[in-house]
Amino acid sequence: MRIIVILLTVITGTTGFQDTDRFSAARKRMVEEQIAARGIRNSDVLRAMEKVPRHLFVPREYQADAYKDYPMPIGYGQTISQPYIVAIMTEAGKPDRSKKVLEVGTGSGYQAAVIAEIVKEVYTIEIVPELAEESAERLRELGYTNVICKYGDGYNGWKEHAPFDIILVTAAPESIPPPLIEQLAEGGRMIIPLGKQSGVQELMIFSRKNGKTESKRISFVRFVPFRRL
Ligand code: SAH
Repeated sequence: MRIIVILLTVITGTTGFQDTDRFSAARKRMVEEQIAARGIRNSDVLRAMEKVPRHLFVPREYQADAYKDYPMPIGYGQTISQPYIVAIMTEAGKPDRSKKVLEVGTGSGYQAAVIAEIVKEVYTIEIVPELAEESAERLRELGYTNVICKYGDGYNGWKEHAPFDIILVTAAPESIPPPLIEQLAEGGRMIIPLGKQSGVQELMIFSRKNGKTESKRISFVRFVPFRRL
């Protein structure tokens, strides 16, 4: 038995899931064709997206399509973002091992898992109680001990753990919730889609330098509405 376990470990690699599932070829193709080919260069981001098993973050009936180039329903009227959007948001945050992240809109937990591969800690808030529970459980089962989940309204951020080096908002409000600006660290970056639900939304980066906030538009996007409790 021991020999078999050791052999398996050698063949599959010590950390496990990335090489052992039948979707690893699809995941590699996703990274090459949808992410790298469109200009994402950050090797940590490419590596994270090649590792995180996206098919385990979507409902079972959609697993076969998990690595395709579009967002997908995750229940409760919500969606998991298109892989490329996850890559853009992760890269725009300039993540590294020293960073503490706040995510508003846990959804499936996929974006949290991707950035958790790179940073120190991720605090993530979800307003739909069932999704908050399911994603916390999923992230725990997959071994993401550096992701801390809670149910609630992310409008207020997470004061006890502020300030954050990176804030990712994955639902679109019309304007930035002021508590989130307050909880952004000096030198920190917030990536947030802004705009009306019916119209076009703009994915924006706000960076905070010497007490001043600078903003830049990344692209036009379509996210689910930012809700309030
Ligand atoms: N990051 C997610 C994308 C989920 S879609 C993923 O990788 O799967 C956006 C999510 O934001 C939805 O689940 C929605 O319920 C949630 N949401 C909307 N308004 C919110 C708010 N005020 N606070 C926390 N979560 C919110």
